[in-house]
Amino acid sequence: MQEKLVVIALGGNALLQRTQKGTFEDQYVNVEKTAKKIADLVEHGYKVVLTHGNGPQVGATLLRHDAAKNMVPPFPLDACGAETQGFIGYMIQQALRNELKSRGIDKYVVTIITRTVVDRHDPAFERPTKPIGPFYSKEEADQLAQRMPGITIKEDAGRGYRRVVPSPDPKIIAERSAIKTLVDAGFVVVSTGGGGIPIIEDGTQAKGVEAVIDKDLGGQRLATLIGANVFIILTDIDGAYVNYGTANQEMIREVSTGKLQSYLDQGQFKEGSMAPKVLAAIRFVESGGERAIIAELGKLTEALEGKAGTQVVSPRA
Ligand code: ADP
Ligand code: MG
Repeated sequence: MQEKLVVIALGGNALLQRTQKGTFEDQYVNVEKTAKKIADLVEHGYKVVLTHGNGPQVGATLLRHDAAKNMVPPFPLDACGAETQGFIGYMIQQALRNELKSRGIDKYVVTIITRTVVDRHDPAFERPTKPIGPFYSKEEADQLAQRMPGITIKEDAGRGYRRVVPSPDPKIIAERSAIKTLVDAGFVVVSTGGGGIPIIEDGTQAKGVEAVIDKDLGGQRLATLIGANVFIILTDIDGAYVNYGTANQEMIREVSTGKLQSYLDQGQFKEGSMAPKVLAAIRFVESGGERAIIAELGKLTEALEGKAGTQVVSPRA
């Protein structure tokens, strides 16, 4: 039997619970729990590629750089993104390899620092939307604006001033062939963390940009480009709901991309949380993937068996 290739997009709760402070220990313990779920799939014979969010982590990294700016020069956002891909990848490599080893599975885990190509003419660059990093006073905000001309700072609902960056649509995963080669060679690969480090191509040269990519949309591009059979988005809720947050909310079980698109167009899913997951699922299936799933982290195996989560399929299937 040909092993199925699954790309898994891990949500924020795989690394950190909302109530936790975010010590390294906190994060590592969460990753150890997540690793058990992933190891179950590897044990069942699936080929696995993992991707993950990095919102809280990159926020903390920016804060560290900012707090120490009089001692060491702060780094730009793209380099901070690379830092988080590195340390999160390290945690997954360690925890998942330990878990596999304890089960006697002869498989290794490797992380690829991943860049995602975005279109330099993406309209998102005209209107930055994503608040990132620390809050500033008016005075600090003015200093920052002087030090980094070209960045956008906005007042954030009376809580202070904050940088906002664009969130362009991911197009191509630059490291896709390395990722595919490693998967084919039997490695579990961690890549495209935080949606990938956004880069634009300028003639023959690439350069990092001050932007953030949605991790679910980035994960979909990766899944499609490496020919995954299934793309699964794991989060802190059991699936996508219609009428979410109302008395007659209902979880969507199995749905065609067309039907799901109509729910998306109705505004059933919140921007920045469930809407990008739904869009990513639709894109994956419409690009030829067998099935996309939105499910709860704890129900990974059941979701792959079709027994949990929102199962997104082609209307032709
Ligand atoms: P992640 O870190 O996994 O990406 P998000 O917070 O971005 O997590 O997205 C998951 C959240 O989306 C859920 O906790 C839920 O509150 C919210 N959400 C918004 N609209 C819906 C919907 N229609 N159905 C289900 N969840 C929704
Ligand atoms: Mg999210």
